[in-house]
Amino acid sequence: MEITFALIKPHAVKNIVALQYVTEIIKNNFSVLQTKEVVVTKQLASRFYEEHQGKFFYNRLVTFMGSGPSIAFVLASKDSIAKWRTILGPTKVHKAIYSSPDSIRSLYGLSDTRNACHGSDSLESASREISIIFPDFDYQEELRKQMESV
Ligand code: ATP
Ligand code: MG
Repeated sequence: MEITFALIKPHAVKNIVALQYVTEIIKNNFSVLQTKEVVVTKQLASRFYEEHQGKFFYNRLVTFMGSGPSIAFVLASKDSIAKWRTILGPTKVHKAIYSSPDSIRSLYGLSDTRNACHGSDSLESASREISIIFPDFDYQEELRKQMESV
């Protein structure tokens, strides 16, 4: 059992078809432990995307993330981190369309920045990202509960 963090980015929240499609996939594949609408402000984004500070796309990314509400999820399932990232497809949309045509990013990504959704890439990232967006969520305690329930 694993807990991951997923986020539907602003342009996909505005697209009702994309929003419904992604929400349905999440409900069918994971237990939703938390969900909320959140605007990833510049301040939140600077913590969330700390590892990308200084990269050429950083300002573009932070501006885009603050452009409207996102929908955040804490998800549990077996291998949830890899499973959600497979459903998402590659970061870059042209690669997603080529190598994973049925993935979310292939279907609903608009550009390498506006690539529809986010997914944590490791246990450490999941725990860190959840603590930024859901500060009251007790990762270790919830993981323990999930382990007990299987
Ligand atoms: P995410 O962290 O959003 O799930 P990822 O782990 O696949 O995506 P990262 O390398 O962590 O990709 O990049 C974080 C985000 O920064 C990407 O989702 C995308 O929005 C943006 N980004 C990454 N690389 C590029 C790029 N070359 N050009 C433009 N934007 C980029
Ligand atoms: Mg990442």
